[in-house]
Amino acid sequence: MVTDLMTKPAHDDGILSEWLEEAVEVGARAAERGRVSTQIPALSEVTPSRFGMAVATTDGQLVHAGDSAEPFSIQSLSKLFALCALLEHDPRSWAQVGWHPTNAHFNSVAELERSGGRPANPFVNAGALVVTDRLLERTGDAVSATLDLLRRGSPGRVVEVDQSVAMSEMIADHRNSALAHVLAEHGRLTCGIERLLAQYCQQCAIAADVQTVASAALFLADRTRSSTELTLSTVRRINAVLLTSGMYGAAGDIAYRIGLPAKSGIGGGVVAIMPGRGTVCVWSPPLDSDGNSAGGVAAIERFAELAGWSVF
Ligand code: GLU
Repeated sequence: MVTDLMTKPAHDDGILSEWLEEAVEVGARAAERGRVSTQIPALSEVTPSRFGMAVATTDGQLVHAGDSAEPFSIQSLSKLFALCALLEHDPRSWAQVGWHPTNAHFNSVAELERSGGRPANPFVNAGALVVTDRLLERTGDAVSATLDLLRRGSPGRVVEVDQSVAMSEMIADHRNSALAHVLAEHGRLTCGIERLLAQYCQQCAIAADVQTVASAALFLADRTRSSTELTLSTVRRINAVLLTSGMYGAAGDIAYRIGLPAKSGIGGGVVAIMPGRGTVCVWSPPLDSDGNSAGGVAAIERFAELAGWSVF
């Protein structure tokens, strides 16, 4: 299925659709080897065979396949959009959230303690909590700021917080609570812990479909800078940190297999950026042993191979 995003005619829509169909086939097979996350009780109920994929290009095409109009829980993909929203307000925020890769688990309390309460990067939970804290301080509502950024790329599409997923995480969220307390102990938070955790869980519980996410992330591939208030150097930094830290402990594997900056979430979403060309987003709930969508990684790997997308 092909939809024009802008007035520009799609010149290679047929071939994009063909590549997408092949990638979906490869991804759906790989998904059978993964397991749906049980970290958030409400998410463990999702049907494992759901599969949606979308490619948005900088020349205005949006090609999609499968369950591409069905909203899914974006979870840690929201860390990327919250970071971008914060950097729009203050490009110097890197100093507070860090940019270094880490081998520690994404929600490790031990690592945060070891580093004296300094987060490694904005894509581990400690860094993401600081991002949400600063965005909340600046805007009064970090969730709305994140939703606004997601909606900007595709006006009219439904992007909402799934309150049942947010509640489900809030009730059992001892680990993020522990991280927030360690951050607060080290003076790294400006807002109250309760309010911050409520905002963070709602931000993670945003539901959007793959077409919306691929379109919303397109400003990270746009070298003309027409679609964002972020400077080129900020966008380059975001992509660099995505490449080294966006895929949990699998950065080396993803760089080797795919070669694109990417972010994934425990809801089974993955979004990857090809600077100058476009974005690709997949939703497939079963996760691999690194915690990334098994089908999502395989589908993006195949698509990138067919399309010749790699930053290397
Ligand atoms: N809400 C989840 C958490 O904070 C998101 C995890 C993820 O998608 O990586 O742990």
